[in-house]
Amino acid sequence: MRLERWGTRNVLAMAKIFVGAQDRVFVLTGAGISAESGLPTFRASDGLWAGHRIEDVCTPEAWEQNPALVWQFYSERRAQGAKAEPNPAHHALAELEKQIGERFFLCTQNVDDLHERAGTLRLTHMHGQLAKSRCEALCGAAPVDDSTIYKSLAEVGRCTCGARLRPHIVFFGEVPLEMELIQRKIGDATVMLVVGTSGSVYPAANFVHWARQGGARTVYIGPEPPLNASAFTQVVEGKAGAVIPGLFELESS
Ligand code: NAD
Repeated sequence: MRLERWGTRNVLAMAKIFVGAQDRVFVLTGAGISAESGLPTFRASDGLWAGHRIEDVCTPEAWEQNPALVWQFYSERRAQGAKAEPNPAHHALAELEKQIGERFFLCTQNVDDLHERAGTLRLTHMHGQLAKSRCEALCGAAPVDDSTIYKSLAEVGRCTCGARLRPHIVFFGEVPLEMELIQRKIGDATVMLVVGTSGSVYPAANFVHWARQGGARTVYIGPEPPLNASAFTQVVEGKAGAVIPGLFELESS
């Protein structure tokens, strides 16, 4: 039994999400799902990411003005991400996908690869991936696998077109990736589960509204209500690793 918040009412109820044989589940995850794997969120550190202001390491202006600092920051994130392990929340979502197959889709704002390492197959990284780099000139070359922990800017390679390689990260102010796919999957969904995101980064904070417009049930999971909490039909307060395992009740076929 957990305290749940339904709209403006608080009620005590079993925290179970029923997934019927026709349901299609869209999951959106944010930094909170990786917190129990030891990767810090912004919120945990007063809006800083690993001690840095976002403006200094995660904007097009930061890349223009100080690419060495940007690469140092993402090299540190690569090193930290490689040491982290998926936690029970990542594993429970991968297990749900095994059960319902193509009726599952996951969109993460995270740049770590903990969902993949837990076994999730049907997913997209709307804000990019730590373990890839891409051409800063957007010449059309695909992002390349790159987990290198660079010690200096001089070590960073160049694209085949000659431009500099930058981290394959969507900086604040840039357009997120795969938005058409994401919108289509939200349109198809009958259940939306949002985990560990503060509801302050757009367009992800709007996904719940898009899902509600399509008639989906919308559930948030995290230790505190997100800024957009009132848009959810249900908010379950708790840590992802404690709440998600055992959360789903599947209709037996
Ligand atoms: P945020 O830091 O703004 O918010 C994190 C949210 O997670 C908070 O609402 C907090 O209550 C919740 N949370 C903390 N511990 C939790 C737990 N154990 N279980 C469930 N929820 C928990 O992060 P955001 O809203 O995802 O937005 C930040 C942006 O930062 C994203 O675009 C993302 O790319 C980037 N980011 C990524 C990582 C990562 O890849 N692991 C880490 C930090 C930031």
